[in-house]
Amino acid sequence: MSATNLPGTGPGTVYLVGAGPGDPDLLTVKAQRLLQQCDALVYDSLVPREVLALVPDTAETHFVGKRRGHHSVPQPSTNAVLVELAGRCRCVVRLKGGDPFVFGRGGEEAAHLERQGVPVQVVPGVTAGIAAPAYLGIPVTHRRAGSSVTFVTGHEEIDKARPGVDWRGLARSSDGLVIYMGLHNLPHICEELIAGGLDPSTPAAAVQQGTVRGQRWVIAELAQLAVEVCRAELASPSIVVIGEVVNQRVASCAPEPAAVEMPIPF
Ligand code: SAH
Repeated sequence: MSATNLPGTGPGTVYLVGAGPGDPDLLTVKAQRLLQQCDALVYDSLVPREVLALVPDTAETHFVGKRRGHHSVPQPSTNAVLVELAGRCRCVVRLKGGDPFVFGRGGEEAAHLERQGVPVQVVPGVTAGIAAPAYLGIPVTHRRAGSSVTFVTGHEEIDKARPGVDWRGLARSSDGLVIYMGLHNLPHICEELIAGGLDPSTPAAAVQQGTVRGQRWVIAELAQLAVEVCRAELASPSIVVIGEVVNQRVASCAPEPAAVEMPIPF
């Protein structure tokens, strides 16, 4: 327990903090400040060591993500850890890759904490769906090539009680698509988009480990994307971008990926 813990003085605050997509330079100033002053850290996969190293030695740390070959910690256990820590620590950082409210269960955790009477604050982060394309120089919207963009999960088994994504509908309704967790279902997704009316020659890109050392990508027409991704052996975590915005790529504006490793749990 650290010197700043306040045992028995009622709940501290849990900060749901976005760690950004990997490059530590993309942490927000607020995330950095909270990491440097927290009493406890609860984190999952896809956060580089360099970011975790900001936490003081005195803070207690809890890993609740997925380890290679193991299941992730069940959500109720994570919720319980957060409530328990808030009972005895002043500042608890719940760190999540990218933005905590973008496909990260941040909303569920915030609601649980609120129900338990634990003060909770969200600190938005730079989401991978914007940063990974940007590190190739691809803008996710463009005045002439993309007035709308949809962030969508390609991992349809997250919650079987929910209807699957209506890919054919999206083909008609959104200029651009940014797909998280989409690699596994990519052949199906591309087929459905084409069946929904998207031109098979629509430009598309897939970016693995955007913003960090393992960054690799392919750019291909929609009809060829799944094959090219397979040929290049791209793996999770990857972001897929589909739409005319891919043709608006300005390669020279793409930053160098950071020289840090992304811990990959898969
Ligand atoms: N909250 C996160 C997303 C969590 S879901 C965010 O806002 O970015 C996890 C998925 O995010 C991965 O399967 C992958 O699709 C995407 N992802 C996260 N980090 C990534 C990175 N550095 N490069 C490419 N995709 C990434």
